[in-house]
Amino acid sequence: MHCPYCRNSDSKVLDSRTTDDGGSIRRRRQCPSCERRFTTIEQMQLVVVKRSGVVEPFNRDKVINGVRKACKGRPVSEDQLARLGQLVEDSLRTLGQPEIPADEVGVAILGPLRELDQVAYLRFASVYRQFRSVEDFEAEIALLRIEQEPTGIEPLIPDRAADNKMSTFVPHRLTPARERPEPP
Ligand SMILES: [Zn+2]
Repeated sequence: MHCPYCRNSDSKVLDSRTTDDGGSIRRRRQCPSCERRFTTIEQMQLVVVKRSGVVEPFNRDKVINGVRKACKGRPVSEDQLARLGQLVEDSLRTLGQPEIPADEVGVAILGPLRELDQVAYLRFASVYRQFRSVEDFEAEIALLRIEQEPTGIEPLIPDRAADNKMSTFVPHRLTPARERPEPP
């Protein structure tokens, strides 16, 4: 590993430790020439297996570029795109398998993109899932609508009022179960 300060071709490892999630190794290094210290992170290389069987290294920028196209004209910032790219990579790494089928990359994009922008999501999904007709769009939109409907567990009172209520809330003693008549 080259020293990033003086480009010396050698460095020595002072300390190695696995990161909390176990997905990478962090090494503290020192350059024997200029004596400056730096850190390297060693990560498993993710590769994507395309439908054709061709294998290529996972490329976060490629994910972001694909999503950016779907977001054209939508109020989505570069920061949000970058964050989405990170989320996708993180979720793929958590799968813990070094070779990811290209389809899985698409699946990993769909979730965060739906959170980000529903129009962009529909555009992306229409290409990725190969929507063939207007009905396919209608079905997907119907799903989005259902997910937005109230589930009945949203708080009915504003948060602060709810907090106040909670702080003075005295739990009831459980009502004793009624005696059930013995079956004959
Ligand atoms: Zn150096």
